[in-house]
Amino acid sequence: RAPLLVAEDLRKSFGATSALDGAWLEVDAGEVVAVMGPSGSGKSTLLHCIAGIVRPDSGRVFFDGREVSLMGDAERSALRRAQFGFVFQFGQLVPELTCLENVALPLRLERTRRREAERRAGEWLERLEVGDVAGKRPGEVSGGQGQRVAVARALVTSPKVIFADEPTGALDSFNGERVMRLLTTAARESHAAVVLVTHEARVAAYSDREVVVRDGRTRDMART
Ligand code: ADP
Ligand code: ADP
Repeated sequence: RAPLLVAEDLRKSFGATSALDGAWLEVDAGEVVAVMGPSGSGKSTLLHCIAGIVRPDSGRVFFDGREVSLMGDAERSALRRAQFGFVFQFGQLVPELTCLENVALPLRLERTRRREAERRAGEWLERLEVGDVAGKRPGEVSGGQGQRVAVARALVTSPKVIFADEPTGALDSFNGERVMRLLTTAARESHAAVVLVTHEARVAAYSDREVVVRDGRTRDMART
């Protein structure tokens, strides 16, 4: 069976800086893959290329058999909205909206009615154990709560893939582990794959498989 996501020999430079220099990745449906490596090794650039945010200079990216690297901007953003969810380190929630409205937003953007969108958003907040912050704005909740709200927002559209770039980077280890446990449990229950960028072994331990990036090149590691 074909993998859900395939990246073949990606290369990407920013001016004189080579960020990716032959990166390969395959992710199966429902698989949780950790992309590890030191700061500056190309992890975020790899994530941005496979998520269709950044266009590689060369190499190919496939999602579900379709070549993402050949799509135009409109088609790639439609693909991202319909199939992908994103969790970043911080600052991804809209500060003017309540946590409930933030989670409902991706549904509203695909024209789900407010009442239905907010009902589903509320269910996701409960699953991520942050039902109590529904009416608060992001500035009024803790870092760990905010990240769990962000995970709820990433999952509310039932995406096929969650892209998470250092999702626990701004949290202490207790809250980081709670976010990882809830993220991976919810993703597995939804049959969503997760591409997790992290430099922390403790965070990568929640994955099924680790891929290491060094100097823009990937290397598969056996799970220890
Ligand atoms: P990592 O996520 O492993 O820290 P990145 O993919 O962010 O690595 O960066 C890889 C290299 O590419 C670094 O040298 C970084 O400074 C450079 N880089 C990444 N994005 C850009 C950009 N938009 N413009 C210039 N250089 C960039
Ligand atoms: P992370 O590695 O945690 O994703 P970075 O600080 O490396 O965070 O990058 C944050 C953003 O800035 C990314 O979108 C990346 O592409 C961009 N970026 C990284 N390095 C550079 C750089 N040297 N010049 C310009 N943009 C950069």
